Amino acid sequence: MSWRKGIVVRFHSDMVTVQDLESNQKINCFLPGRFKLQKIRPIVGDYVEYSKDQQNAYGRIENILERKNELYRPRVANLDQLVLVTSIKEPRVDLIVVDKIIVLAEKEKLDVVIVLNKTDLLGSDEEKREMERFIEIYGKIYPVIPTSKITKNNLDILKSYLKNKVSTFAGPSGVGKSSLLNVLDPKLKLREGEISKKLGRGKHTTTYAELLYFDFGGYIVDTPGFSSLELRGIKKDEVRRYFREFLEFDGFCQFSNCSHTVEPGCAIKEAVENGQISLSRYTNYCQIYEEIEDSSLKLQ
Ligand code: GDP
Ligand code: ZN
Repeated sequence: MSWRKGIVVRFHSDMVTVQDLESNQKINCFLPGRFKLQKIRPIVGDYVEYSKDQQNAYGRIENILERKNELYRPRVANLDQLVLVTSIKEPRVDLIVVDKIIVLAEKEKLDVVIVLNKTDLLGSDEEKREMERFIEIYGKIYPVIPTSKITKNNLDILKSYLKNKVSTFAGPSGVGKSSLLNVLDPKLKLREGEISKKLGRGKHTTTYAELLYFDFGGYIVDTPGFSSLELRGIKKDEVRRYFREFLEFDGFCQFSNCSHTVEPGCAIKEAVENGQISLSRYTNYCQIYEEIEDSSLKLQ
């Protein structure tokens, strides 16, 4: 009996639903006792090897492969990328929220793709300029895809980013995350608002994420990532590493441990003045830096 490879898409009591990587068929698998004795449990997103014999309707987990990464809320392994969905209008974009989500994604080493949804709502020149400004700030750092569920523009591009990857959507509620997923793959049949509603439960309630399969290939977590924007796990002096466009200037400051906030001779501030780094990103960096409590100061 040979082992097959699959990905865990769902977890329920002692059964694990595994989707075969070749046939895409789902099969419920049980977890042999030896895993429990070692306190090893698969989580959604884990790649596993499983076996199945002809007589048995169930499969059996044989091996859990090493995780590339692991996100805690929602609990999911092996994410390839975070798709940050936002809109310019209804709701109005808040760049500090965008930058906080990016910081959390960069910390987890996730690729970031930004979707600017609801472009059909942009009527006035001023609104269109706001979109241009957004693209000017973020388009240099990440792919930015303007979309609309009404006009369906650029959905093929978004699809090509999602294809054959494991992604999670993130972004404020009401920006159109569920709607976009439904347009991309109508078989998902998510209720609008559904993907956002799964969060905001009590802190002590565990949310079990589930992976949904796109009929064009690829998986999406049914629960958006980072909606609490909890920066607690991040230290002040690591934030600068998560502003990608700072990296090429890092090391050119007068002080080697420059925080890029108040020090003289700061290469980052110089790059902001020269227009090489956007002022909005820099201001948000400073705000995030300030917001994070300095645990080393507290110890003194
Ligand atoms: P979520 O909370 O991010 O999952 O957002 P939903 O998918 O529930 O969408 C919130 C509301 O925005 C719904 O009434 C959608 O019909 C609407 N909506 C979603 N995408 C678009 C879009 O591209 N254009 C317009 N005009 N409305 C949209
Ligand atoms: Zn500096």
